[in-house]
Order: sequence, then structure tokens, then C-alpha cells
Amino acid sequence: MPKFVTCLNCMDGRVQLPVIGWIREKYDAEHVDMITEAGMDGFLVNRKDVPEELRKKINISLEIHGSSVIFIVGHHDCGGHPVDELTHKKHVLESADKIKKVYPGCAVYGLWVSGLWQIEKLGEL
Ligand SMILES: [Zn+2]
Repeated sequence: MPKFVTCLNCMDGRVQLPVIGWIREKYDAEHVDMITEAGMDGFLVNRKDVPEELRKKINISLEIHGSSVIFIVGHHDCGGHPVDELTHKKHVLESADKIKKVYPGCAVYGLWVSGLWQIEKLGEL
């Protein structure tokens, strides 16, 4: 059975491969189900709840692919959520908290992608 994890990422084409590579290496995952929005951390913090359309996609990853780990990603030079690095990191963690409340059975991690496209783990819920 292939091992899947779930990732809520930006749609920015520069971040997909670094994030997939890092997750596969660190978490022994074969497949990363990638769910994207423009500035995912901003998308989540600016909404009261996790939108139904997003939950539907997360649920497919959890229920059909058997994932139990969810990553939330923010990155440097984000056109979809143009705030400074400190604010991004805060918003990633707030987003992770929001996701954890909906999916308490999952491990939820916040990640930051730097200007050198390196991944930094921000926290685990
Ligand atoms: Zn972005």
C-alpha cells in the first residue's frame, strides 16, 4: 500500500518540487497529495472556517489514500500572500492550528520555504 501524506501548498510552481522532495525524504512518504491555493496560509487565515471545497480535497487524501499527516506551507516571495517572513510564519502556524481543529486525529506540520528554496519546519500540532 503506497504511503500518502497531504500538503496544503501555494500554487507557485517554484515550491512544489522542493516541498515534495523534503517531505518524501523526512517522512518516508511515497506520494504527496498536493492541494494548492494562491498563498495558502493567507487563504486559510483570512477565512473563519476551513472552506468546504478545501475539506473535500483533504478528505479524499485522508479517507481514500489513508493519509494521516497534513503539511501547511508558506514561502518566500509569495505573490498570493505578499506579507513579510515573520507574518507568513505566524499565518502558517495559525493555519495549522485551524486545520488541526478540523482534523484532530492527524499530525499537522507547518513548513516555511526560504529564498534559497530550503524547507524549515515551523511546528507540529
Ligand atoms: Zn505563494
